[in-house]
Amino acid sequence: MKDTLRHAGKRKQLVAVLIEKGIKDKAVLAAIDKIPRHLFMDSGFEDHAYQDKAFPIAADQTISQPYTVAFQSELLQVKRGDKVLEIGTGSGYQTAVLCELGAKVYSIERQKELFKKTKLFLSKLGYRPKHLSFGDGYKGLVEHALYDSIIVTAGAPYVPKPLLSQLQIGGRLVIPVGNDPQIMTLFVRKSEKEFEKREFGEFRFVPLLEDKN
Ligand code: SAH
Repeated sequence: MKDTLRHAGKRKQLVAVLIEKGIKDKAVLAAIDKIPRHLFMDSGFEDHAYQDKAFPIAADQTISQPYTVAFQSELLQVKRGDKVLEIGTGSGYQTAVLCELGAKVYSIERQKELFKKTKLFLSKLGYRPKHLSFGDGYKGLVEHALYDSIIVTAGAPYVPKPLLSQLQIGGRLVIPVGNDPQIMTLFVRKSEKEFEKREFGEFRFVPLLEDKN
């Protein structure tokens, strides 16, 4: 596992691209500047790691495009110490961004292979999410609820009710909704029963899948 000055230089260029595309949150940009994204991908893709593109990882899944990670992270408005639930751990890259933002991170992945691999990898890199869980993100993670925010990193055909109910009052759910493409959607919990909804344009994700078998 090597991170070199050459990689750091490429990260600076990626951050410049993200700023050009409209990302403003300084803490999010600092996280992307710091995290060695090339180590989250197979070494064969190393040359592509700092392009603003999604790439294949294990189990037919993808590591999200840096712009998408930045956009969703910015919408979450994470404050240090916030309790954040992530649905779709995948490569762990978004998980690492949330850790850098100072969140207490809970993350769920439904592919056993990825769950195991990423758990080991994140700890090798020195990231300490509060809890990595193997299971179905449609249900959220009720045993640790409520959350200050929830981020879904796969395309959801509909908004799972448990995710809304596991949000604090004032909490934010960022979720790409629809089939192909998805509409990036933000829900802010205004009270026990009221949610404010805002939409932020089209994105493309691998699907949020329901229970295996
Ligand atoms: N955050 C990841 C994105 C990975 S792609 C990253 O930065 O790399 C989306 C991930 O969601 C995949 O790993 C996929 O296996 C997972 N996923 C799909 N449906 C799920 C579900 N119902 N529960 C939990 N994870 C799910």
